[in-house]
Amino acid sequence: PARPELEALQHADVAALLPSPGAESDKYRRGVVGIAAGSARYPGAAVLAVSGALRGGAGAVRYVGPAGDAVIARFPETLVSDQGPHKAGRVQAWVVGPGAGDDAGTVAEVLEADVPVLIDADGLRLADLDVVRERRAPTLMTPHAGEAAALLGVAREEVEAARLKSVRELAAKYRATVLLKGSTTLVADPASGLVRVNATGTSWLATAGSGDVLSGLAGSLLASGLSALDAGSAAAYLHGLAGRFAADGAPAGAHDVADAIPGAWRDVR
Ligand code: AMP
Ligand code: MG
Repeated sequence: PARPELEALQHADVAALLPSPGAESDKYRRGVVGIAAGSARYPGAAVLAVSGALRGGAGAVRYVGPAGDAVIARFPETLVSDQGPHKAGRVQAWVVGPGAGDDAGTVAEVLEADVPVLIDADGLRLADLDVVRERRAPTLMTPHAGEAAALLGVAREEVEAARLKSVRELAAKYRATVLLKGSTTLVADPASGLVRVNATGTSWLATAGSGDVLSGLAGSLLASGLSALDAGSAAAYLHGLAGRFAADGAPAGAHDVADAIPGAWRDVR
């Protein structure tokens, strides 16, 4: 039978995707995720992206950018560098953009890397989209409706009224896997046209920094070896569940969502 064009993610599907280190594993085999995020103005975005990445299965998290002190103060296990992405050392997947401000140079450097790259937030505005289209390694873009509208050159309301069409158009236009955030999350695969739908979230996730946690988590799954489609959809699933666990009928901050990821992971397993 033909593959369906829409797929709802189930617990068991996600369980099968989650990495599990074998006895022979070491931190490099588990994968190193690079986080190029944050700025003097938005250091917290770097901390939150790292917080998600530390819960996503990578063996190490490397941070590149101006918020190294803040990152280390909160997460001493992070490998911090004040050199650019080219000089950062081994990285199996990059996350670029959360809180990046106007640092287009870093975004351009990351896009040159021959490994999977997740582009979020300011990165979506700063990236040279012709370069994105021509990348050989996988690209995962994670816009919310406003960012998707800017990429498509239409009004936000147009994206909100036609989310499925919008996410497919973006994936085709940029030859990238596109994860469109919102009350449900849609993840479109550029090659097959397949769209996965995730509905584990809660409206309590509509809180500052929540998307930064998601991008770190998805980047870490990419570094663990998942495809862009699998990394994006598993991350959306876990992030939504973590939001439910963290909020549990009362408001929670984005860092609480990150802290709830291990519980979501155990629940899925
Ligand atoms: P961002 O807009 O980048 O901060 O990301 C917000 C995160 O929260 C994304 O993962 C969204 O899917 C999620 N989110 C935002 N609003 C809702 C909502 N009303 N219901 C469920 N999830 C939401
Ligand atoms: Mg965001």
